[in-house]
Amino acid sequence: MKFFYLNSKPNSEGKFEIHDRECDSLPSALDRDYLGPFNNGKEAMRKAEDSKSEVCLCPTCCASNFQAIIKNIS
Ligand SMILES: [Zn+2]
Repeated sequence: MKFFYLNSKPNSEGKFEIHDRECDSLPSALDRDYLGPFNNGKEAMRKAEDSKSEVCLCPTCCASNFQAIIKNIS
């Protein structure tokens, strides 16, 4: 289990990034919303989509999970 946060400000592409608590790019306490504990970024993303329509996984802290998912598809 990791603890995930949603950036409350959109990035340059207009999407709200999901970070885990350990991430170097984690926004300050004022600029993030706590999502909760999840097994991976994909599950956190599902939860985040309830409140924001445009969300994405942070390439720094969630990239490894993301690649694993892509591999499973191909
Ligand atoms: Zn991150």
